[in-house]
Amino acid sequence: MKTLIKNIDIITMDADKNRYPGGAILYEGDTIEYVGPFSDLEDKIKEDNRQVKVIDGRGMLALPGFINAHTHIPMTAFRGYADNMALWEWLTQKIWPMEAKLKPGDCYWLSLLGAAEMIMAGVTTFSDMYMFTGDIARAAADSGMRAVISRAMVGPDDTYGQRLKDVEELAEWQNKAEGRITMMIAPHAVYTCSPDFLVTCRKLAEEYKTGIHIHLSETAKEVEDCLKEHGKTPVKHLYDLGYFDLPVTAAHCVHLTDEDMDLMARHDVRVAHCPSSNMKLASGFAPVDRMLKRGITVSLGTDGAASNNNLSILKEMSVAALIAKGYTGDPNALPAHKVVEMATASGAKALMLEDKTGSLEAGKKADIQLIDTSGPHLFPKEDPLVHLVYSGYSGDVDTLVINGRVVMQGRKLTTIDLGLVYKEVEKIVNRLRN
Ligand SMILES: [Zn+2]
Repeated sequence: MKTLIKNIDIITMDADKNRYPGGAILYEGDTIEYVGPFSDLEDKIKEDNRQVKVIDGRGMLALPGFINAHTHIPMTAFRGYADNMALWEWLTQKIWPMEAKLKPGDCYWLSLLGAAEMIMAGVTTFSDMYMFTGDIARAAADSGMRAVISRAMVGPDDTYGQRLKDVEELAEWQNKAEGRITMMIAPHAVYTCSPDFLVTCRKLAEEYKTGIHIHLSETAKEVEDCLKEHGKTPVKHLYDLGYFDLPVTAAHCVHLTDEDMDLMARHDVRVAHCPSSNMKLASGFAPVDRMLKRGITVSLGTDGAASNNNLSILKEMSVAALIAKGYTGDPNALPAHKVVEMATASGAKALMLEDKTGSLEAGKKADIQLIDTSGPHLFPKEDPLVHLVYSGYSGDVDTLVINGRVVMQGRKLTTIDLGLVYKEVEKIVNRLRN
């Protein structure tokens, strides 16, 4: 069955920046067949004998679904639990001891909570790094979301066997859930992995023919410690270990030298910029404008709900745009169109999914959000992307389609029983905190 969304203002985020006011989107199964003016489609629809389901998009804006390029989705459990702390104290005193109490099955419900939150904020794809990755994959499968899931690797220690098993299980998930789940290999960071262990992880990525997802140059302490221990910056350290021969998605990249950025640009290292987390943990401001000037692909991530404390890419867009200007003193830094590109097309590129998602065009998967533009905060009419970045709320997202399946319509979730999720998450959180 085909679905036609008509009378809809479309911003494709394709390479030519095409926009179609009052246009139409036609998709069949999981794939977009047509995006453009309705007049070009009218006759074709009439000729088509098969039933076409019609969604009237009047008063709405269609955009590709947002992409959250760096998160730890089960950390919804720790939302609001540990505030006013720097990264190292936050991890060692609060987060790691609590994570040690997680049991198999917990992360399924915690991930469904995160999936519900993201769906309601227009996010169709997330890239995750955590443990209990089988639970996360199951939540992605059941919620209908597209996901790139990575098992966090720390070492060397005696947990490697279990971590490897999780990686093998993730590889199997790539053949399930209509192909919505892919994987990367995720050495946690240079400060939690020895050089030899980093090489082990790199070889694992080569073996599975996939990319690397890593936290990189997040804090000044990480860079100072790496300089002391290895005599080079974390970026140069990874480069010397052969990392940049593979696709790398590096989260944060707050503390970079010019040489670091040149090296990253030369080797097409993609960045997941997480401005809210960087500010909340007082890590600093990533030099986004200087990365973009070098042609580095910069995507957006929320990081986990414990350091943000939400999973809204729309909110992250606003934060990114505002701090880029405030930090550089340049009002031209990071204009609205660019920041939406970071949340869509660049996100897809960062996750090696640019053939499938990130823009609305024929041949790509139907990952579409319909945004209600009737609210007073979006009036009078102006450039919709400017409105979206500076005035939009997650609550404006009315309908979300992922891989051709409607997962939310009229703000109602179709794949997740939120009441049940709240009940299960409450039980888990009570156990973790007592
Ligand atoms: Zn992170």
